[in-house]
Amino acid sequence: MGNRIHLSVPHMGGAEQAFVESAFASNWLSTVGENITAFEEEFEGLLGRPAVAVSSGTAAIHLGLRLLGVGPGDEVLCSDLTFVAMCNPVRYLGAEPVFLDSDRATWHLDPNVLEDALRKRAGKNKLPRALAVAHLYGGCADLDPILALCHNYGVPVLEDAAEALGARYRNKPVGTFGDFGVYSLNGNKIITATGGGVLISSNPAWIEKARFWSQQARDPDASYQHSELGYNYGFSNVLAGIARGQLQVLDRRVSERRGIAIKYQRAFSDLGGISLMPQPEWGFHTNWLSCFFINEREFGASRDSLIRRLEEANIESRPVWKPMHMQPLYSGCERFGGTVAEELHRHGICLASSSSLEEVDQLRVVNIVRGAVGGGPQSRLGGGV
Ligand SMILES: *Cc1c(COP(=O)(O)O)cnc(C)c1O
Repeated sequence: MGNRIHLSVPHMGGAEQAFVESAFASNWLSTVGENITAFEEEFEGLLGRPAVAVSSGTAAIHLGLRLLGVGPGDEVLCSDLTFVAMCNPVRYLGAEPVFLDSDRATWHLDPNVLEDALRKRAGKNKLPRALAVAHLYGGCADLDPILALCHNYGVPVLEDAAEALGARYRNKPVGTFGDFGVYSLNGNKIITATGGGVLISSNPAWIEKARFWSQQARDPDASYQHSELGYNYGFSNVLAGIARGQLQVLDRRVSERRGIAIKYQRAFSDLGGISLMPQPEWGFHTNWLSCFFINEREFGASRDSLIRRLEEANIESRPVWKPMHMQPLYSGCERFGGTVAEELHRHGICLASSSSLEEVDQLRVVNIVRGAVGGGPQSRLGGGV
C-alpha cells in the first residue's frame, strides 16, 4: 500500500533550528526577542510594507477588520469560496458577513458580483464596512476591478493572502494592494512556523495599533492599566526562529510547488475532463495546492470516487473549500451571485502538493488518478519548470 501521502506537510529548510537555539541560548522564550524583530524586518523587506507578526492568520484578520472599524450592525463582504477562518472574525466583531460568488474563469471573487452587491447596498444607503477577499490556493483574485469598485464606493479592502505568500498580481506581491494583507504560517501553508500569522498594511500607525492590541493593550507608562480591549495574540520568539529559516527558502518552496502542479497537469493531459485551477496571465500562481476541476462526464469518474480511490491507496486528497453560504454556521447570511463556488466545491479536488513530495510518490498519485479512468500507468513524470 505504501507510506501515507499527506496533502501538505511542513518542509524545513535547514536554518530553522539554529534560530530556535539562539532563542534558547538568550533565554528569550516568550513573545519578545530578536527572532520576532528580525522576522518582521525580513518580512517587510520582502513585501515592502510594515508588518506585525501574531499568533495566527485568523488573529491577523481579526485585528485588521477591527482597525477598519468593523463592529456590531456592520456588514462585511466576503469571498464565498474560502476557508472559514477568514469570515469568523467578522462575527467576533459582532458584524455579519455577506457572501460573494466566484468567477468560473478564475475561481476567485467575481468582480461583477461585487459590483452588483455594492450597487444594491448603496441604493439602500447601507454600504458594507469592508471587503475581505481571499487569494485561493496560491493564486490571486483579479484585483484591478475589485480595487477600482471598492475605491469608487469608499469601501476598504482586506486581502486574505493566507494561502498565497509568494504569489504576485501584475508582478507585485498579493497582500500589498489593499488596506491590509494577511498571511498564515500554519503547518499546512507554503512556509510554516507550526503556527503564526502576519498582518501588513500601507499605514504604519495601524500596524503599531495592531501590535498594541495583540499584546493585551497595556497603557504605556502606567502599570497594569488598560483603556482599550486587547488580545493575547503575540507571536513566540521560538516560533519566529522557525519562521526566519522558512523565509530563506520561500522562493524554493514556490518553485517546487509550481513544479508539482505542472507535472500533474502534464501527466493528465491525455485524459480529458480534468483541468488545473486557472492560472490567469496577470497572476503568478504558487500552486500552494494543486487543485483540479473534474468534469465527470468527460473524465469518466466522479470527484468523490477519485478521493475514495486515492484514500484506498493511502493518499490524502480533499474537496475544494466548502463555500461559506453552505456552512450551517452561516446559513441565513445574505449572498450575491450564482452557484459557481458550489460547483467548484462539488467537482474540485486538491491533490497531494507538499514541496517535499518525492517523484515516486507523485507518480503514485498520478497513476491512481489515471487508473480511475483506464489511463495506462506512467513510469516517470515529465519535466518540471
Ligand atoms: C489558513 C487560512 C486562514 C487562517 O490562518 P491560520 O494561521 O490557520 O489562523 C485564513 N484564511 C485562509 C483563506 C486560510 O487558508
